[in-house]
Amino acid sequence: MTISHGQDRRHSRVASVSTYARWLLLAVAATTNYAAGCHTLNTPQTTSLPLRHERVRDQLIIHSAFDMPERHRLVEELCAQRSDLAVKLMLPTSDEPIHVYLFDKPNEFSAYMRLHYPELGPRRAFFVEGDTRLAVYAQWGDRVAEDLRHEVAHGYLHAVVPNLPLWLDEGLAEYFEVPRGTAGVNRPHVEALLAEREAGTWTPSLPRIEAIQEASQLQQRDYAEAWAWVHWMLESTPERRVELCHYLQRLRETGVAPPLSHAMSTSSPQAEQQLIAHLESLRTR
Ligand SMILES: [Zn+2]
Repeated sequence: MTISHGQDRRHSRVASVSTYARWLLLAVAATTNYAAGCHTLNTPQTTSLPLRHERVRDQLIIHSAFDMPERHRLVEELCAQRSDLAVKLMLPTSDEPIHVYLFDKPNEFSAYMRLHYPELGPRRAFFVEGDTRLAVYAQWGDRVAEDLRHEVAHGYLHAVVPNLPLWLDEGLAEYFEVPRGTAGVNRPHVEALLAEREAGTWTPSLPRIEAIQEASQLQQRDYAEAWAWVHWMLESTPERRVELCHYLQRLRETGVAPPLSHAMSTSSPQAEQQLIAHLESLRTR
């Protein structure tokens, strides 16, 4: 198993090849506070999945250790995200189940992770794609809404589009992790990228992040830049959104597609400058 670690990354994707299955994991790292707290944990109290309660809502099968209200606001939002994503990206929906395991105690979540995914280190949530199963694991907490929107978006995407490039997979998940009604604006990413731009420490380059094949090489800024390219394509002009949707459609139909930057060099030769202008417009919006 290839493992990714990094102090400054929130997310990591781990790819592994075993005898029986090729797994793909997309994870949200724990916050610094949580990571610090994690080191104080002693022997795991349990390593069981939270299976006491189960709710089926459309594509989602939500397993939890605690009973949730029949119509929990977060679950409603996750269900709505399915059609939001399909409409925005011009994709069909799938009926392939996405199992969501919600742990109510951080120590039980971390105990489960240490037993089954010890290479990941402290995380708040992660997504696993197996050959026959899509699953999200998360701990209930202050940021569970953001985490679940991110990880469940991976699930909805992987159910209909194979072989998503790493940068695009994460850029789309970062777009859909923000609450509904905010047009995918990930405010911390806007501020961080513009600050780096003004400090002279960052120049956007889609070919650069396209070349990153291993999650272990993705830095926090790469996630932000991946989000920026996605947001620019989806929210600047109708033509760019169609270009991205056609790219996803090609992946869906054939399983392969050349790097998106190849076509963009013709359709948007000034893409880097336009991306910066787009970020500037978001700062003042
Ligand atoms: Zn992710």
